[in-house]
Amino acid sequence: MSFFTTCPFCAGPLISWWSRPSFSKCRVCRLVLRNPSPEPEPLAEHYAESWSDPDAHLNETGGMDFGLATQYTRDLLKSLGLSDAVGLRILDFGAGRGFLMSALAAAGATVWGIEPYGFDGLRAQGQTVFRTLEALPPGLAFDGIVSMDVLEHLYQPWHSIAALARLLVPGGWLCLSTPNPRGLNARLMQSRWRETHNQGHLMFMEEYCLMMMLKQANLSRGKGVRWSIRHQNSLVRHGVQRLLERVGLGGTVRVIAVGGDSGVP
Ligand SMILES: [Zn+2]
Repeated sequence: MSFFTTCPFCAGPLISWWSRPSFSKCRVCRLVLRNPSPEPEPLAEHYAESWSDPDAHLNETGGMDFGLATQYTRDLLKSLGLSDAVGLRILDFGAGRGFLMSALAAAGATVWGIEPYGFDGLRAQGQTVFRTLEALPPGLAFDGIVSMDVLEHLYQPWHSIAALARLLVPGGWLCLSTPNPRGLNARLMQSRWRETHNQGHLMFMEEYCLMMMLKQANLSRGKGVRWSIRHQNSLVRHGVQRLLERVGLGGTVRVIAVGGDSGVP
C-alpha cells in the first residue's frame, strides 16, 4: 500500500474525502483517489481471476453488452456530427469483452483494441487486439480513440491520456467515460457509493479534472457530452437519469477532445 500526501497528478494538497474505503481529494485538480493505494500485484491477480470467467464477473470485465455498445456508437457519432463511421480507424483502449469494437465495426469503422486481460477471448473472436499500447504496430495513427470505464482502474490515467493523444492523427478525437464523483449518487452515498466498492477503482475524475488531464496532453478542445444512454427499463427512471446527466449530476462523466489543428471542428 502506498499513501499519498500530495496529489499524484498535480502535486496539489489532498484532503480526506471519504472513509471506509478511504479516499482523498485534491483541492486543486479535484481528483478523488483511493488512499492508500493498493499494490498492483494483488490487483492484477484479482483481474486475472475475474477474466478466467468473464461473464460471471461483470464488475471487473465490464457491464457493456451489444445493445449498450450500439447506443454508445450512435451517440458518439451524433456528438461528432457523423452519420456513420465508414473509413474511420478507431482504437478501443480497454476493449473488455469486445462489444464496443463490434458495434463500431458494424457502423463501418476499422477497429483495433487494447485489452490486457480479455486479450485471448478477443483474439478468438477474430478482433485485432493487443495487450498494451506499446505492442501496437509502429506508425499506426487513429482518427478516433474510445476508452469507456477504464481510466478509473489506472494508477496514472493522465499518462495513458497523454499516450493516447500521441496516437491520434491531426484533428483526431478521444472519447472518454468514467464514473462521476460529482454525481448525485456519489454525493449522497459518499463512501457507500457503489463505485467505491470495486477494489479496482483507484481514481475518480469529475469533468473539471479530466479537462486538466486533456489539456496537459495537448487536447485543449475538450467538451463534456450528455448522452441519453438507456440503462433502465423504467421510463421514469430513465427520465430522471437524463435530467441528472443534463445538469452534470449523472453517474458518468463523458468527454470528447480533439487533437491537433486540422480537420474536425
Ligand atoms: Zn491534483
